[in-house]
Amino acid sequence: MRLDIRLHFEFGARLPAQALKDIPILLEEANQGILKKGCPKGKEEEASEVKEWRVEGANLFLRILSGRYVRAHHAVKRIRNFLSENMGKKYKTGIRKVFIDRFEIQYELDREPEKEITLPFVQKIEIRSNTAYLELENLPEDLLESGIDRLLDLLEDKIKRQSYGGKAEHWEILWESPQREPIWTGDPTQEMIKRGWVVRYLPGIWYHSFTSSKIMRTIEQICLEELLSPIGFQEVIIPKVTPFNIWLKTGHMPGSAPSIFYISQPKSWDPEFWEDLSDHVKITGEIPMKLLAEKIKEPLGGACYAQCPPLYSIFERQLLDEDDMPLKFFDRSGPSYRYEAGGLHGIERDTEFHRIELVWFGSKEQALQIKDQIMEKYKHIFNEIMELEWRTAWVTPWYMAQTGEKGVEEAKEKGTIDFEGWLPWRGNRKESEWLEFQNLTVAGTKFSDAFKFKIRPGKEVWTGCSGIGLERWMSVFLSQKGLDPKNWPESFRGYLSSLPKEPKTLKL
Ligand code: ATP
Ligand code: ZN
Ligand code: MG
Repeated sequence: MRLDIRLHFEFGARLPAQALKDIPILLEEANQGILKKGCPKGKEEEASEVKEWRVEGANLFLRILSGRYVRAHHAVKRIRNFLSENMGKKYKTGIRKVFIDRFEIQYELDREPEKEITLPFVQKIEIRSNTAYLELENLPEDLLESGIDRLLDLLEDKIKRQSYGGKAEHWEILWESPQREPIWTGDPTQEMIKRGWVVRYLPGIWYHSFTSSKIMRTIEQICLEELLSPIGFQEVIIPKVTPFNIWLKTGHMPGSAPSIFYISQPKSWDPEFWEDLSDHVKITGEIPMKLLAEKIKEPLGGACYAQCPPLYSIFERQLLDEDDMPLKFFDRSGPSYRYEAGGLHGIERDTEFHRIELVWFGSKEQALQIKDQIMEKYKHIFNEIMELEWRTAWVTPWYMAQTGEKGVEEAKEKGTIDFEGWLPWRGNRKESEWLEFQNLTVAGTKFSDAFKFKIRPGKEVWTGCSGIGLERWMSVFLSQKGLDPKNWPESFRGYLSSLPKEPKTLKL
């Protein structure tokens, strides 16, 4: 690593002639002292050093070079403080502003990228034999503190991602149910449309009529009776509008940015502000979209993407009482929204969908124990009540899959389990893509760290969550068992054995 910064400090006034004598002495002192501080022994030549300087009027121009330790961008603040202390009083003028005129970075990579890489704030990137050469100009000063280190992480991250061919996850099968012969191999959505159970409303948004609603409510009831009540989960109503600050903390922003439904508020509540739009609609019967865009604010966030993030924010900076632990919540108070674009097909992937989300807080032991309890109940429901062919898979973000054997083993306490069901209409069980119909995550202290909540007096909180997708359960069930209750497993028929009658309609 080689870092080369050219910057200048702007002083409040012209620097006096005496400064030209003092500056080289001060810089030499800094080079030997504060710019070496914290550098491992024997690595001093890697630490920052001011190599060039010149004064022009009220400006002091410097060039700082470094290797890996006491990186040049970290040296800027040190030298600024040092010069302020030692020059300020004497010349009765202080440093007003810092300008990072040019920053050149030479950075060694583990591997070369497969495609071109772009990075924010970087004017030029060149990669030659495993070394990246970056050129940045007129850089905002506040990026020096941690932004540049993040920029280098992002560079490595992007290269690694390319080599994973866009595949975001490492996937590993954990458990498989016995095989079960499906009743049919049809696509339930097509059949449900024919029977009037569902009506396509907007892309990925469905009207669920009596039957489809009944099946999803039955699934809810099974979850309540077999899973939520026995383990002691209690219902809460989690807000569904999610502001950006919450997603910044959970990491959904920026990762989920392409799939979010953004929400904007009006700029004003005053009917006069809306009068021109209103007049236009009255006369033309159309909504003037450009004008509308001018009347709404920037989005404040979006519609529910995952249910748990707002719940964490409720506990932000709270100390929990050990006696209340573990806490077990569930939410089924509203739909979730995802922009799935070209991925839409039938009810198994929706823009608007319904999900029960379980969230639990506790000590590490409690969180893991609850996970085991939930897993056992899920197994019972899928094997004994719904009689599904399903499997579980361990999914690890690619960056975690990278961390050697021990890393993965350790990581297995934390992480996500996907539950997948076979959709016979998609093809045979070996080659076709199965449907993730729910998942379960033990997040460790990821979210309690992000939202800073602990158990009094200062013990860590582990969290877990599991999202039960009602449309997805229904989709797997109907794909394997068909739409006729007489073919359904006896135990499921115990909950629902006859279906409502749908109204008949004819197209005008
Ligand atoms: P997929 O890979 O199928 O898109 P995902 O990894 O995006 O799923 P998660 O973000 O893990 O899904 O969401 C948790 C649960 O929410 C899923 O297991 C599923 O039950 C449900 N879910 C997610 N996206 C949708 C959708 N578009 N339509 C219906 N249910 C969904
Ligand atoms: Zn969650
Ligand atoms: Mg998805």
